[in-house]
Parts: sequence; C-alpha cells; structure tokens
Amino acid sequence: MRPDSAPQSTPTPQQSTRLADYRAPDWLVDSVALDFDLAPSATRIKARIIFHRNPERAGEGPADLVLDGRLLALVSAAVDGRPVEPELTREGLRLPAALLPGDRFTWTCETEIDPKANTALEGLYISKGMYCTQCEAEGFRKITFYPDRPDVMARFRVRIEADRATAPVLLANGNPTATGDLPADHSGDRHYAEWEDPHPKPAYLFALVAGDLVSHDDSLTTASGREVALKIYVRPGDEGKCAYAMDSLKRAMRWDEATHGREYDLDLFMIVAVDDFNMGAMENKGLNIFNSKYILASPETATDRDYALIEAIVAHEYFHNWTGNRITCRDWFQLCLKEGLTVFRDQQFSGDERGHAVTRIDDVKILRARQFREDQGPLAHPVRPEEYIEINNFYTATVYEKGAEVIGMLRTLVGPEGYRKALDLYFQRHDGQACTIEQFRQCFEDASGRDLSQFARWWSQAGTPRLTVEEDWQDGRYTLTLSQTTPPTPGQTDKLPLVIPVAVGLLGPNGDEVLPTQVLELTEAEQSFTFEGLGSRPIPSILRGFSAPVIVERQTPDAESAFLLAHDTDPFNRWEAGRGTAVRIALGLIDGTGDISGAWVEGMAAVLTDDSHDPAFRAMVLEVPGIDEISREIAGRGGLADPDAIHTALREMRQTLGNELSTHLTHLYESTKSDRPYSPDAASAGPRALKNRCLGLLAATGSADAFALAETQFRTADNMSDALPALTILVHEGAPVADALLEDFHARWQHDPLVIDKWLALQAAAPLPGTLARVEALTGHPSFDWKNPNKFRALIGVLAAANPVVFHRPDGAGYRFLADWLIRLDAVNPQTTARVAGTFETFRRYDTARQALMRAELERIAGVESLSKNTREMVERMLAG
Ligand SMILES: [Zn+2]
Repeated sequence: MRPDSAPQSTPTPQQSTRLADYRAPDWLVDSVALDFDLAPSATRIKARIIFHRNPERAGEGPADLVLDGRLLALVSAAVDGRPVEPELTREGLRLPAALLPGDRFTWTCETEIDPKANTALEGLYISKGMYCTQCEAEGFRKITFYPDRPDVMARFRVRIEADRATAPVLLANGNPTATGDLPADHSGDRHYAEWEDPHPKPAYLFALVAGDLVSHDDSLTTASGREVALKIYVRPGDEGKCAYAMDSLKRAMRWDEATHGREYDLDLFMIVAVDDFNMGAMENKGLNIFNSKYILASPETATDRDYALIEAIVAHEYFHNWTGNRITCRDWFQLCLKEGLTVFRDQQFSGDERGHAVTRIDDVKILRARQFREDQGPLAHPVRPEEYIEINNFYTATVYEKGAEVIGMLRTLVGPEGYRKALDLYFQRHDGQACTIEQFRQCFEDASGRDLSQFARWWSQAGTPRLTVEEDWQDGRYTLTLSQTTPPTPGQTDKLPLVIPVAVGLLGPNGDEVLPTQVLELTEAEQSFTFEGLGSRPIPSILRGFSAPVIVERQTPDAESAFLLAHDTDPFNRWEAGRGTAVRIALGLIDGTGDISGAWVEGMAAVLTDDSHDPAFRAMVLEVPGIDEISREIAGRGGLADPDAIHTALREMRQTLGNELSTHLTHLYESTKSDRPYSPDAASAGPRALKNRCLGLLAATGSADAFALAETQFRTADNMSDALPALTILVHEGAPVADALLEDFHARWQHDPLVIDKWLALQAAAPLPGTLARVEALTGHPSFDWKNPNKFRALIGVLAAANPVVFHRPDGAGYRFLADWLIRLDAVNPQTTARVAGTFETFRRYDTARQALMRAELERIAGVESLSKNTREMVERMLAG
C-alpha cells in the first residue's frame, strides 16, 4: 500500500487515439458505490466496483485490470477484500490478471483528491465555495480509478458526507434514498445524503454537487401520468431568476413527449447553476449542471438573446436524456451521435417555439460563422473525426452544428414520417446501449428501405462542398445542372461526391411560384434536372431553407437577387438574397470595382417598410454582414483579407443606409417602441430587435440626434434588451457620453457577475483605436477574474473572436496580447485555453504581414515547454494544417 503516494503530476506525452484502434473493454462494471467524504483540500473517495469479464473478450484468456486515473493519491486498494498493490502508471493503474480471482470480483479502493486546487474545472472542483463536477469527456478519472470510457455503463450509488454549514445541500444523480446527521467530530457538524441512479450510465454522466443552494421548485405530470419533481438549484439570492429556465424545461419535456414520444424516466429532475464552468451546460443523468449564464435571467439583467439561449440550452440538455444518456456513444469518435442529433432536436424545438424562418436563419449564421470557418482552416475535420490527442478539442462546430445539419438532411431525404419511424426504431433497438454512427444509420436504412452508404460520407469526409449551378432554357424546358466539389482539407486530399438534397423552387416573372419546393438529390459530381411545361423562363430559388451545408457558387445577377428578396416564398432564400447582395457590394467597395447601388438601398427600404414581414425577420435582413463573414468570402475566393479595408467598406454601407433611410428608420424606431411590460417571448423580442437595428443604423451616421435617442433609451430602459444595445451602440460609435454611461452601468451592476460579463464584452468588442489599451487596463480591474472562464471569454475571448479590427492591428499588438494571456491561462485551465486559442485558426486568411505576426505568436506558444496537451495539440494543428 502507498497511503501517502504523491499525486501523479508527470505530463502526458502527446499520444493520439485512433478510431481504427477501438477495442471493446476487457472488463465491464455491474455496479458502483461511491462514498465521498468532502473536504476542500483533502476529499476522500471510497469506491466499491463490481467487475465482470466482458463476454465478448472472454475467449481471449485472462486480462489485466487497467483503470484510468489522473492526479489521484491512492490510499488503499483491495480485490474481494484482499489488499493489493497495483502498478501506478501515468494514466492510471494496472493490476495483473494473475492477481484477479476470476471472471467476477469486487474492487475497492480509497483515493484522495484536492478539489480546491483543481483550477482546470474537470473532475470534482470548487466554484465559489460549492463542490461540483464536470466529467465529460474524461473528468471522472480525476475522482477515482475507473474504466473511464463511454462503453462501460453501470448503476451508481453515491453517499456524500459534508459540513452542514458550508454544504447544506448534497446532490447526485438519480433519486434520493437517505439523508441524516452524523455524530459530531473534530471537524464539526457533518451530515450525509445517499442517492441511487437505477439507469446504467457511463462515468462521464456522473455528477455531484454540494453547497449552500436554494431551489426553485415545480413539477410535471408525464403523458403516462407520473409525477416528476423539478428543481433548479442556485445560490441564495438568485432564486428569482429561474422562472424562465423552469418554464423552458417544462415546455421541452412536453415537446419531447409530443414530437418523439419520449418521457422522462426518474421521479426527480434537477439543474444546478454554477459560476465557474468551462462549457455551456452538461446533461448528467437527472442532475444537469449549467453555466449560470444559461439559467439565470430577469428582465433587468438578461437580453432577449440570453432568454433564447436559455430556452435552447435547457432543452438541449434535457433532450440528451434520450439521445446521449439512455443511448450513449460507444467511444468519443461517435460524439456527433449524441451531439449532432441533440442539436438538431433543440433547433426543431426552438423553431416550433419561436418561428422556423428566423430560427433557421440564426442557425445558418452560426453554422457559417463557426463551422464554415473551421472547414476553411487548419482545424478542419470530419463530423466523426478519426484521430485525436485531446478529445476536449473536438467539441467543435463541425461535430455539433454540421452534425446537426447531417441529421437535418437525413430527415429531408426520408421525410418527417420516415424520420420518426427511424428514431422510434433507434430507441427501441438500442435503449441502454453505447452505439456507433453505423448502428444509427442502420436504423434509418431499415426503417426507410434506403441505402445510405453514400450518404454516410457526410460523417467521414471533411470540408464544405461547393455547389455550382447552370441553367438552360429551351422550348419550354428548363434545365438546372448542379455540380459539386469539396476542397481538400488537412489529411484528406481527394474527395468523393456526397448525397446533397437541394431544395429548389421556381418563380415566374410576375413573382408567382410556378414550381413549389422540390428536393433534388444530387449524388454525382454533376447532374441535370429538367422541368417541362413552363410558359416562360423561371427564376430559380436554390437551396431553399438551406437544405444542405454547402456553399452555392453562383453569380446571381443583382436584379435576380432583388427579385428574390421581394418575391421568394421561402423566407430563408429571401434573407439570403439580401445577404448575397450586401456581400457583393462589400467586395466591390473593397477592391474598388463597385459602389453602393441604389437598388440595394431601395430593396432594404422595401423590407423595412413592409409590415407583412415578421419584425425579427426584417431586423435580420437589415443587418449588414460582419468583418469575419467578408474575410471568409474573400478567402473562399482565393484572396487575402485586410480587416481595416473591410471595416471601412462595411461602415460606409451602414452609414449609407442610416443616411438614406433616416426618415423610415426614425419612424420605425418610434413606432416599434412599446410601453408594455417586458416579456421575453418571440412576439415581443422581434419588434425590439427591429427597433435596435434601426437605432444602430441611425447612429452609424454619427448624428447627435441618433446618439441622443440611444442615450434616452439607455437611461429610461427598464430591461437589459433595451439598455445593452443602446449602450453598445454609443460605445462602439465613440459617442462622447459613452464613458460616463459605462461608469454608471458598472456602478449599478457590479454585484452581478453575468451583467459585468456583458460590460466587459461590449468594451472588448469596440472597433476603436483605444480598445486594446482599455482591455489591457480592464484585465487589472477588480471586476475581472481571469481564472473564471466566463470572464476570460468575455474580455480576452471577445477581443480575439469578435473584434477583428483591433485583434488584427497591423502592429501585431492584438496577437501578442492574446498569446500572453493564453500562455498564462494554460497553466491553470487547459480546456478553456485551447478553446480560445482556436481563434488563431483563420490566420491564413489575412495578408502576409499579419500571417507572419500570427504565426510568430503561435510558435511562441508552442515553445512553452510545460504547455498542456490540449493547447499544444491545437497550436500544432494550426501551424501544420
Ligand atoms: Zn450536448
């Protein structure tokens, strides 16, 4: 025994894990009992695990017991009650087969960990005095020695002992089975709670929370009549900010029953809000743990966008109960099996709740901004990657957002009924199992009778396909010829044709729809589709609803875009027509070949004044593209982007709209103002978005009147959705009053960490010459805490990801600033560091001087000897790709 063995701290070598090397586990787990004796710096965990030989591997003879474990001090270990001395390795421990009694035994062990020193926020850690856990993907191995892989599923029983004073609430997965007091000892007043989760689960879904919490309670009766208690736990004082999250949860539970026939399966569902959290939220069985920004909301502190995100993320984590928890992933390469499917489900839910048109536009904007960006750079990878060094680096837009697009295309190809039939089969066939994409696909093949082997390339082939369109019109026959190519990506030079569902509609010259939406299935590199019996040459509306995650390369004439903007029956393509024109104008301004056309301004005026459109949709059409979007377009055309030139062009476009449409904008601003009390629903949020868009365009002209409107809005607002855009506009346009208002805002909200994040972020995003100096000063501000992931992202992350003008300063000061902070954070929190480091992924888009400066910073980071494997993998992929 080694009761005093020091925690392992040797760095792990860079070793990659490959899908092709998958082997089923030697040992499976029947049940796990964990006893936690919680203390901030020395928590003791006693584990009692019943192992049995995996029947699949039994024929291969005796197998060692190999368990994962990181930063654990082993106090004692025994097999069937007999003490053993396992060999400790960098990655865990090994017990030779010779020391194992047979095909079934009980492993007991005691470990000690230091939650207080755990700044990486993986495993068991302390956030503002509260014990909490994050085990996905590989955090459980920092709690006890275990086969920490998703294909080992087991029933868990947990006992927690802690101080009553600091941790009056003790939570774990499943249902509570006992609570009580412990005899007082030298450590003071202790108590305990016991929990049992009847559903077998992989260790990554384990959760424990202990702290001073209060709960917002509700309940729901399921479709079959079972009563489920619902509890959202927060810090005392925050209980008034949970109503919207609770309401979202209940709507999500009802939705999954109504649309998928899926009921909740425990008597209790809990959510806990935590301030220090690397990710957005985590779907632990029965005990979801959330970044507090995705739970806490009140009209005074949260924006419409925050409310929409809370609704979507609460739903997402809840939906995982079936797509992720009851059916989980065999290995981490299958991450898209749970994430792509669950993102698609939460997108459908948001569409049902908030309108499909605006939700779809929002989703595509995010897909293009994050996933197309990823595909264009050195970090491109397939939806199901084939190799990784650190799995935390693969929680990416490709796995999540493109993964969801793949599910959406499947649904389009088999139809809504076929989709439901296939999912029912999936739930029936695989409930309680750890699955692969192939098993999921098989359910779709069996339910629909379709061969999906070519479609499966969407999971294995990286890169954004390019779709080109040619038209032919002869004797009443209209022919569309579609071709596809996918550019090479790191490690994949040759690409094969995909199955691309292209939704197409045709419009007559008077604007009538002569062919309602049809889905053309493009399966070859090039294919023609003919439409007969048309009286006149139609205008095509291609890729309606963004039916596939591709880039349509087509020189749409401006007149045709204007026509589609005015007449298309597909709202997505209407928006797309406006966006396409704006992108072309920006590109023309940048290279000096074009000007701002009167037709574009007129088209915008028509949308602005058309009351038949949803206000949220109008606000989206009126949005001038961002610098990052134009940089991506330039790079996609083989050019090099200069963020300053793009900024100047986009500014001119906003100013032109602000000047030329000022009467309309002012009128619309006044008429969309509302005296009704704030409500976060979509019907109220839409007009606010439109009103704030009008204000932004008016202020872009720098007019004192517009600044006065914004200042009045800020000073009189009774909700954050009005206050924050007004303040942001004033700060970003450099209004003289901005600094005084920033101070007022801070004075009012300094007690509220989530509002302070907004205060930091809006300053970091200001496209102004003084911003970098201001952000540097803010890193020393008492309201900034760089070890808190939300704060780090709000200030340093936003500067790098959402302020291209300042981040890409020609002198490289933005790059240096980011690299300095990444190096500093890496020693404390590798996961968040690696994530923010990804903002360098676009470095090859820019002019050679900027590229060289960015490369130098990436090399400086790579030169840090003690760099975490998370950050090293990211930086080296960016440099190599
Ligand atoms: Zn998820």
